Amino acid sequence: TVRTRFAPSPTGYLHIGGARTALFSWAYARRHGGQFILRIEDTDVARSTPEAVQAIMDGMNWLDLSWDEGPFYQMQRMDRYKVVIQEMLAAGTAYPCYMPPEELEALREAQRARGEKPRYDGRWRPEAGKVLPEVPAGVQPVIRFRNPVDGVVAWDDLVKGRIEIANAEMDDLIIARPDGTPTYNFCVVVDDLDMGITQVIRGDDHVNNTPRQINILKALGGEVPQYAHLSMILGDDGQKLSKRHGAVSVTQYDDDGYLPEAVINYLARLGWSHGDNEIFTREQLVEWFDLDHITPSAAQFNTDKLKWLNAHYIKQTDNARLAADVSRRLARREVDPEAGPALEALIGLYKDRVSTLNELADAVEPFYIDLHPAPEVLAQHLTEVARTALTTLRGKLADVAWDKATLSATIKETCTAHGMKMPQVAIPLRVALLGQPQTPAIDAVLEIMGRDLVLTRLDRVL
Ligand code: GLU
Repeated sequence: TVRTRFAPSPTGYLHIGGARTALFSWAYARRHGGQFILRIEDTDVARSTPEAVQAIMDGMNWLDLSWDEGPFYQMQRMDRYKVVIQEMLAAGTAYPCYMPPEELEALREAQRARGEKPRYDGRWRPEAGKVLPEVPAGVQPVIRFRNPVDGVVAWDDLVKGRIEIANAEMDDLIIARPDGTPTYNFCVVVDDLDMGITQVIRGDDHVNNTPRQINILKALGGEVPQYAHLSMILGDDGQKLSKRHGAVSVTQYDDDGYLPEAVINYLARLGWSHGDNEIFTREQLVEWFDLDHITPSAAQFNTDKLKWLNAHYIKQTDNARLAADVSRRLARREVDPEAGPALEALIGLYKDRVSTLNELADAVEPFYIDLHPAPEVLAQHLTEVARTALTTLRGKLADVAWDKATLSATIKETCTAHGMKMPQVAIPLRVALLGQPQTPAIDAVLEIMGRDLVLTRLDRVL
């Protein structure tokens, strides 16, 4: 059975790249009826924080990427790693190295000076017939993995294709520090083994770790999982994605007015494709997702496309849910939608015209605030003629039936009475009511706004 994992280091929020990795791992597990595991790689104690763990989980929850097992914390698995290290020492697949750090540094210096790649020279590596140096007094050893010297490590990367690395290029990796704490690559291997991971899906910044991890896995008698190394994500400008490009934290997209469905759909298409399909549901993603159609080249972020998808999902979402969301956004602006026209009806009027939920909140906000149209806008649109017509209209609106058909007829009557065209009345009316010359259909705006508010606002400017 398929078991995938997402293994973030909790040193910051869940960023777009991490979210895509999580999504692909999640989708692959769901596609195959397997399990998706969340593992927190918090061994970098200095940089890991509980806030970051929370931020990562918040991001995953917002995207509705649920995990079946975990979160597991590496810091809580220290005893387990130490047991495995003892087993490896006993089996001879690892050995203590007493080389003092200064000596190692001197060795590296000398190698660099000769133009060589710095590498440990294996002086404490036990070999048949080799006499090891004398154990120095008072030195705590590091533990090194006994890397094979011959042959190649090879794997068929599910994204990058076949990769082969000669063992001769790798030295004996330190798997435990002098104080006994295990190192990063080692913990990952023990975890992937213990957790029965079948597909390791991760960013290709880890591709150089893979041959070492495979060697350790094999030394532990484990079955090597499949690997899929995802290419990185570039910003709109082709540069590595960073804060400069705007939102990089997933939850920032929530703040910026994106629906999680839109972000999921967008991330799914970032480096993966299913024919010409651009828009698909989470269910379709799960049905279609595979690792064969991931592009090995870097994916480029495209904010316009995300916006386009978001606009699509806003149109699809029912008004009640949008209203609940927009209410929260208005509340943050200290605008109370309870004290005004029906929000759901307004949402229905505006949701086809926006591409973010913040734009939706912007669009409805004028209905709920104590609106004073800007003097220059008034001066431009409320000419003498316009005022005269609006005064007539105001008189009629005071006691007509309040439905769209009647309201529309009433505006038309006013136009006829003053020999004006529809926009000559409708535009000043929009300015008077909402402070802007462009709004959805004016009869619909009037109907939802209600008689009291309409008259109050007309009186204010007339
Ligand atoms: N903790 C690593 C990271 O956040 C991921 C390691 C892995 O997936 O193997 O980049």
